[in-house]
Amino acid sequence: MKKDDVTEKTLSRRNFLKTAGGVAAVAGLATSGIPLMAEQAEAAGDALPKKWDETYDVVVIGSGFAGLSAAIEAKSAGASVVVIEKMPVHGGNSIINGGDFCAPGTKMQKENGVQDSPELMLKDMLRAGAYLNHPDLAKMVAFNAKDALEWTESYLGSKYTRLNFHGGHSVKRAHGTVNSSGSEVVNKELAKAREIGVKVQMRTKLVRFLSNKDGRIVGIEVRTGYRFPDEGSGKTAFIKARKAVVLSSGGFSRDVALRQVHDPRLTERFESTNHPGATGEAIQAACLAKAMDVQMDWIQLGPWTSPDEKGFGYVPLFCERLVGYGPMINPKTGKRFFKETGNRKERADAIILVGDPVIIMGDSYAVPKQVMATMLQKGMEAGAIKKFDTLEVVAKEYNIPVDIFIREIARWNSFVEKKKDDDFDCMIFKDAKPTVTAPFYAARLWPKVHHTMGGLVINKDAHVVGFDMKPVKGLYAAGEVTGGVHGAVRLGGVAMADCIVFGRIAGKNAAAEKPWG
Ligand code: ADP
Repeated sequence: MKKDDVTEKTLSRRNFLKTAGGVAAVAGLATSGIPLMAEQAEAAGDALPKKWDETYDVVVIGSGFAGLSAAIEAKSAGASVVVIEKMPVHGGNSIINGGDFCAPGTKMQKENGVQDSPELMLKDMLRAGAYLNHPDLAKMVAFNAKDALEWTESYLGSKYTRLNFHGGHSVKRAHGTVNSSGSEVVNKELAKAREIGVKVQMRTKLVRFLSNKDGRIVGIEVRTGYRFPDEGSGKTAFIKARKAVVLSSGGFSRDVALRQVHDPRLTERFESTNHPGATGEAIQAACLAKAMDVQMDWIQLGPWTSPDEKGFGYVPLFCERLVGYGPMINPKTGKRFFKETGNRKERADAIILVGDPVIIMGDSYAVPKQVMATMLQKGMEAGAIKKFDTLEVVAKEYNIPVDIFIREIARWNSFVEKKKDDDFDCMIFKDAKPTVTAPFYAARLWPKVHHTMGGLVINKDAHVVGFDMKPVKGLYAAGEVTGGVHGAVRLGGVAMADCIVFGRIAGKNAAAEKPWG
């Protein structure tokens, strides 16, 4: 911040304490026996710029599902809105997500004979979340997911073409986008936001929140022209938020230092499925502005990723379509080792316990039926999915003891015939058939860091809650940056529902705030 940009409040006690000189002086005060007056520091607020570079009613941070949903709703409610995004491109993790949107009681489910309800979805979320979910928040998602899905169809024009299953759900409730990607929704959100007059500004990074002396968030300090990850790049600017700021900056799966603070096992050794910008500085900035964080050590590993490709890749879409149709095998023993349709945590933990990559496989009935041809093709081109003429060649490729493997596949097939898995209680779908028809397809699996369940505490209104247990005035949050919705485990396909349900609520409520000045 340039010296002449700030008011005399720069010299307020609170700001003085934040500086290196302040720290030295505090040490001096403490040793000289003069007590520190916490209230004094509290009362001062932040140094506010004399001149704001830009002013909007609502300032949204992050251009994923949550941020763009908030921006559209805030603008539709009559607010002037800007979305800032630190990366050169929009969409964060949302644009590389697999495009599965879980919602209960929908038309597509009815057409497919699936009986479902918000109560059942909530039950699944709570069970998977080890009942650490904040129940009010989980309920908001389960009970509003159908409406959010329909909003993306009718208002944005997003298309869903199939019903998918994800481990840990009781029924098929994931509505798959036409291109098996979240881009089908997030690109349409971006187009809609621009069409209705939302300003979207790339390469603009949130540095810190600015609060007035009442602790109300009144704006943010940013770096414009920022070039990720060069922290020295860009210029400082100040954006005033007349009504509110919505923080929707996603999770911190790529922030090795921050994730190791909360789960020291998650060293560099674990890759991540996330986009490179999935770092946690915005969560930390919110905490410095008195927002409370929760459950930060519940960090999810995807059990369906491959060590043979970078990032999210193609194997997750291959694996998740095959569970309940084909077996997962431990190459060391030649046997199955866990319930294929178990939730993400159970399966990732089971693979880590095996200690080396395992395989998922299917035959030429299951694979073309379940896996999108383009995804299969791309996975094969990347070398992460392989095709085999016989089970013996599969065994040879992965160093599997062949006789045991062939017997294990026969055992799996007997479970598929009777639709009941006596070994691990895997769900076997009605239309599943024994794995017998060549060619066979297989991929190796090793977990990668995928989702951070923890984040900022919000209430049902998407208002951020502070360490004083009261809403932080002027600050809303939605999406992966928040914590509590999913508890210990986020189920597959629930991120889209979470981001869009709470993004919309955050946007509406931000626009309804009284302007502060
Ligand atoms: P969600 O699924 O919760 O909407 P996404 O990962 O899709 O989350 O989107 C979050 C976006 O926020 C990403 O595009 C990311 O680059 C952006 N972001 C993260 N931190 C900052 C920051 N400090 N300033 C601006 N944008 C940020």
